[in-house]
Amino acid sequence: MPVPAARSFVLVVALASSVALLSGRQAATRPLVLEGARVIDGTGAAPIDNARIAIEGNRISAVGPAATVSVPANAERIDVTGRTVIPGLIDLHFHIEKDPKLALRQLSNGVTAFRDPGQWEQNFDELRRMVAADGLPGPRIFTTGPHIDGEHPAYPADSVVARDAEEARRHAETSVRAGATALKIYFRLPLASAKAVINVCEARRIPCTAHVELLDARELLTAGLHGVEHVTSFGVSILPRREAEAYRQAVLLDNDARREGRYRIFAGANLDGADATALYAVLRERRPWVDPTLAVFERRADRRPADTKPDAHAMMVAGFAKMQQLTKRVAQEGARVVMGGHTSVPFAGRGEAPWRELELLVESGFTPIEAISAATGTAAGFLYRSKEFGTLRPGLKADIIVLRGDPSRDIAAIRTVDRVMVDGRWIDVRRYQQY
Ligand SMILES: [Zn+2]
Repeated sequence: MPVPAARSFVLVVALASSVALLSGRQAATRPLVLEGARVIDGTGAAPIDNARIAIEGNRISAVGPAATVSVPANAERIDVTGRTVIPGLIDLHFHIEKDPKLALRQLSNGVTAFRDPGQWEQNFDELRRMVAADGLPGPRIFTTGPHIDGEHPAYPADSVVARDAEEARRHAETSVRAGATALKIYFRLPLASAKAVINVCEARRIPCTAHVELLDARELLTAGLHGVEHVTSFGVSILPRREAEAYRQAVLLDNDARREGRYRIFAGANLDGADATALYAVLRERRPWVDPTLAVFERRADRRPADTKPDAHAMMVAGFAKMQQLTKRVAQEGARVVMGGHTSVPFAGRGEAPWRELELLVESGFTPIEAISAATGTAAGFLYRSKEFGTLRPGLKADIIVLRGDPSRDIAAIRTVDRVMVDGRWIDVRRYQQY
C-alpha cells in the first residue's frame, strides 16, 4: 500500500537510528549464561535439569547439562536455579484489530512472535511504530494480508473478495508483495479459487492456511493446503454428505448460522465414522499444521452465558468436549498441532489467551511437553522458520522465557513468567504487563 513520502522518510530514519542503537548495544554486550534451570527446549525432548544456556549476541551458542557446556570468557552469569527456561511462545492466531498494545502485553506474557491470520498490513503500522520508539527487539510479527474470501465475506473489513480463481490469484500475489509471510483462505472461497491461492503459496514458498468450514478440508489438503485454522474447520469433513450440505447451505444463507451450528455438528459427530476416518487418511498422508484455537470455543457446564438457553448451552458444552477429542485425535493421526490463542477468549484475561490454549491442549490429552512444542518448535515449523527460532538449540535466535514454576508438571505454570528475552535482549516485563 502507498506510504506518503515524508512519512516513509521519517520511518527510515527512525529504523536506521534504532538499528544503530541496537548494534551498538549488541557489540558492547557480554556473553550471557543462564545457570541451573530446568530447560525444556521446544523440540519435544525431555527436560534437562541443572542446565546451562550460553547466549552470544542475539543467538544461543550452547545449551545442555551444566557439566557439558563451558562458560564463554567474560560472560555475565545469571543464577536461575529452581526456574524453568523454555523458548518464547509463538501465537499463530492473534488478531491485532485496533489494539496494538495487546501485542506488547502478550510479549510480557512470553509471546515473542505472533501471526495475524487476516488483516491489512496498515493495521500493524502503529505496533511497529511503538516497537521502534521503545527500541524493542520484538515481538516478531508475521502477517497474512487480509482474508481472501468469496462474495458476502464473513468479515468484510478484514477481507478481499475474489469472484473467481484469477482474482484469487491476483489478491494472493498482491498480499505477498505487500509483505505477507503466509496467506489465509477464508471459508466462502470456492474450491477453484482456494486452489489458486495454494498455488501462489507453493510458488512463493510460504505457508497457506485456511478457515475452511464450507469446503471439505480433505479436498483442500489433498490440493496442497499446508495449515488449518480452528478445529471447527473439520466440521463438514466429519459429517455424512447430506448433513454437511445442510450445514453449508445454512451458513451460505447466513454467516452467523455457524455460531451455534458448529457446536451442533460436533455434539453429534462420530469421530470413528466413515467420513472422519477418510479425513484421518488425508492427515496421515499430508501431515498439515492444525491450529485448533480451542480457547475461543470453550464452554463450561457451570458457566452458562446469560444469553444462552440451558438446552443450547448443554449442547455447546458437549460440542466443545468433542472439539477437544478431535484435536487430540488429529494429532494422533499425523497432524502437527500448533498454538493459536485467538486474542480474546471467554475464559482468559487480557493477553492470556495463549496460556489458556496451552491449558486446554493439556486438558485435551496432550502432555505438557507436547503442548509447549505446539507453541514453540512446531509453531516455528508452520512459519517455515525452524532454523531461525522456536527451539533452544545452538545457532538459533535467543527467544527465551524464564518461568518461576515448572510447566512440565503443571501447564498452568506457564503463567509464572519471570523474564522474557527476544533476540538476545531482556524485555521490561513489568512495563508491558500494564498494557
Ligand atoms: Zn480468528
